[in-house]
Amino acid sequence: MKTAFIYTDELAKFKYSDTHPLKPFRLKLTYELIKAYGLDDIDNSIFKKPKIVNEEILLKVHTHDYLDVLKTLNSGIDVPYASHFGLGYGDNPIFNGMYDWSMLVTSATVEAANIILSNEANIAFNISGGLHHALPNKASGFCYINDIAVAIKYLIDQGKRVVYLDIDAHHGDGVQHIFYDTNRVLKISIHETGYYLFPGTGFVEEMGEKEGYGYSVNVPLPPYSDDEVFHYAFDKVVPECIDRFKPDIIVTQLGVDTLYDDPLAHLNYSIYGFSSAVEKIKNLGIPWIALGGGGYDIASVAKAWTVAWAVMNNKDLNKNIPEDFMKTYGKYGFENDDLFGPRYELVEEQKKKVLEILDREITFIHKKIMPLIKDR
Ligand SMILES: [Zn+2]
Repeated sequence: MKTAFIYTDELAKFKYSDTHPLKPFRLKLTYELIKAYGLDDIDNSIFKKPKIVNEEILLKVHTHDYLDVLKTLNSGIDVPYASHFGLGYGDNPIFNGMYDWSMLVTSATVEAANIILSNEANIAFNISGGLHHALPNKASGFCYINDIAVAIKYLIDQGKRVVYLDIDAHHGDGVQHIFYDTNRVLKISIHETGYYLFPGTGFVEEMGEKEGYGYSVNVPLPPYSDDEVFHYAFDKVVPECIDRFKPDIIVTQLGVDTLYDDPLAHLNYSIYGFSSAVEKIKNLGIPWIALGGGGYDIASVAKAWTVAWAVMNNKDLNKNIPEDFMKTYGKYGFENDDLFGPRYELVEEQKKKVLEILDREITFIHKKIMPLIKDR
């Protein structure tokens, strides 16, 4: 087994705004914690900086007009019709370097794809990637360029069959939309139900269209779902779908806004629950492009993705965060905390209700969707 980590400190220099919940600084925090645990210097593992890709590869997914607007705004020049492209208010602010940021993230994801294609590693992890909401001509949900879709398009154009597995708290709507009509990509998303959370989609009935009919699998979870509920859904859906599809490559979006202390979503996973999902994905033994995603409590993000990287490399970590790291970065929310944090569990009564709802959805998936998934 070989692993690769794609990262540069350049990523952490961008800023959406002072108050925006998505803080690129969380990436540096993660990298520093990885180093503090000595996980930057292990056998059979490489660290790589992204090489900026050519814009051509973006144009396979995004429109010319949209990229031009992003580039203009990037340099501080105003575009009067920017709001038509989802830009300039609340979620998707205009900031200096916004195109450069998106380009760097996407380049790192494409780098991960190239590492997997060339067998340089079996697992490639880009913590900055996973911007799953961006649409071909529109920014959405903090995402300007859909790095995931760009990389998946690049892979399927080379004849690969790809499973896209998204375990972020939010539905992976952008990726689903872009590949909705193709059976070359099996899209699986386990997320908090759209009844309560942005983007308001990701219901079981969204099954795909045309050749892609049966190749979108959505498992919406009720708010407050915990580790046990998540793994119940994961085990009943993910292995069988993947087994039926027989992919060449798996691409995962490992958003951690699912954790109990995330300020934006209402799920209650712990880092234990998250990391055992990472373990299950690893055990599938499929060449794997692992990406980041949401996560708005920056200390939890750093902890969760450090643990994920340890799992990918078969390393166990001491739960006490190294002292040197605490001295410099403890102030960012690591105080009085261990690496894995607490576990939250639904009370029996609630759990029964949540599992009942979930069982109806899982039955639908087993009866109506899974039989449509074919391996060629
Ligand atoms: Zn999210």
